[in-house]
Amino acid sequence: MEKYDVLIIGAGPCGIGCALKLHEAGVNFGLINSGTPGGKVNIAPRVDNYPGHKEIPGPDLAFKFFERLLEKNIPIIADDVLELTKQGDIFHLKGTYGEYEAKFVVIASGTKEKKVGLAKEDEMLGHGLSYCSLCDGHFFRNKDVAVIGGGNAALKEAIHLSHIVKKLYVIHRRNEFRGSNKLVDELKAMDNVEIITPYIPVEILADDKITGLVIENRENGEKRTLTIDGLFPLVGQIPNTSYIKIDGVLNEWGTVPVDRSMKTSCDGLYAGGDVLPRDIRQIYLAEHDGMVIAKSITELLKQ
Ligand SMILES: Cc1cc2nc3c(=O)[nH]c(=O)nc-3n(C[C@H](O)[C@H](O)[C@H](O)COP(=O)(O)OP(=O)(O)OC[C@H]3O[C@@H](n4cnc5c(N)ncnc54)[C@H](O)[C@@H]3O)c2cc1C
Repeated sequence: MEKYDVLIIGAGPCGIGCALKLHEAGVNFGLINSGTPGGKVNIAPRVDNYPGHKEIPGPDLAFKFFERLLEKNIPIIADDVLELTKQGDIFHLKGTYGEYEAKFVVIASGTKEKKVGLAKEDEMLGHGLSYCSLCDGHFFRNKDVAVIGGGNAALKEAIHLSHIVKKLYVIHRRNEFRGSNKLVDELKAMDNVEIITPYIPVEILADDKITGLVIENRENGEKRTLTIDGLFPLVGQIPNTSYIKIDGVLNEWGTVPVDRSMKTSCDGLYAGGDVLPRDIRQIYLAEHDGMVIAKSITELLKQ
């Protein structure tokens, strides 16, 4: 059993921001992460809205975050937290590879992609269906692909794909996009992009891989069949919080409400970044949260 004063779950911008600040304060902490250090930033085709960089590819920025950890000799515990419980004043974490204890825990585990809920969606993952254009877009060079979604992340992934594929369909359930007008205009300017609204996907056509998608007009019920080789459902995110087994910490959507010090309803348990219930999910917000958490915990440890 490894014991720490603080354990951070997740090494995305929130977890790394928190780790750097705790390191500066000389706190005994561990940083547990299941994926690639830098978190979601690794799959952002391009990052804007990040002060200090006009525009930067996500993986480059994620690597810069990782470099800060290397510079400070902050190790990452590579593990996937399966269960978080509290007995008395001590938190217990069970991972795939180890067990850990801490006085304070930071939930910085971000989100994962929401499924559309279509039949064959799970079956076709890796057989034409992907949730990450940066990871898998190159498999569809000069092929026909559809993106489902209308938020900023979906629009950015669509722009990235439009430079690779032959034909790109962007299917969105409303005539208005949730994402920014600037991104919509950029997509509209591409010759190989067809934006189809207000349509929803109703059926994935496939044999051993994806061959098509049936979509339906939400206003008049008209159906269209698109012949495609690839499908990217990018309809939103769900929080990575199912491992939290402490009553009252999660709200009905599985996100984690916090107070101004970033404390959850449970003493000693803090949360930040994309796991919070908020409309805007951005890197600088996640980093900010991580730093506020580190400050809150450091002050309590001093007492
Ligand atoms: C396509 C796309 C484009 C984007 N573009 C921008 C942009 O231009 N500008 C911007 O500011 N933001 C952008 N974002 C959003 C930004 O990436 C997120 O807001 C930010 O990464 C959130 O940071 P986080 O630390 O909260 O979570 P994440 O970055 O999601 O990191 C969470 C980490 O926790 C780990 N983890 C999860 N569960 C567990 C577990 N049980 N045990 C251990 N580890 C776990 C994950 O592996 C991951 O490493 C974009 C996102 C996407 C998907």
